Amino acid sequence: MPQECIFCKIATKEIPVTALYEDEHMIVFPDINPVTPVHVLVIPKKHIANLLELAPEDASLVGHIVFTISRLASQLGIAEDGFRLVVNTKDNGGQTVHHLHWHVLGGRFMTWPPG
Ligand code: IMP
Repeated sequence: MPQECIFCKIATKEIPVTALYEDEHMIVFPDINPVTPVHVLVIPKKHIANLLELAPEDASLVGHIVFTISRLASQLGIAEDGFRLVVNTKDNGGQTVHHLHWHVLGGRFMTWPPG
């Protein structure tokens, strides 16, 4: 785990967050700078820099995370109207925190394409 990784510090509780869901593999918490009425982040506890750094053995972890997000949508109040799942990857993707994370965005209509 890189010492400077803020999401590793959240995963280890060095930085406290309000966990909306947590298990041994992942944690879900509110984005500190929400861009939609519902904006939560989903991270694996294991440090993975981005989607391109996934190893073959991480496939089940990714499946677990995405499946769990589908189950959390109702609890977050975004299942009925829908939502967006985003994984910003590297510079062109707009990634600023280099620990793999999913943005779950909902609570309002969103246009396409993104800016
Ligand atoms: P990225 O641009 O896809 O890498 O998204 C990083 C996200 O992390 C941004 O939406 C930030 O607002 C969010 N963020 C950064 N630090 C924290 C924190 O300490 N708590 C919660 N969210 C954070």
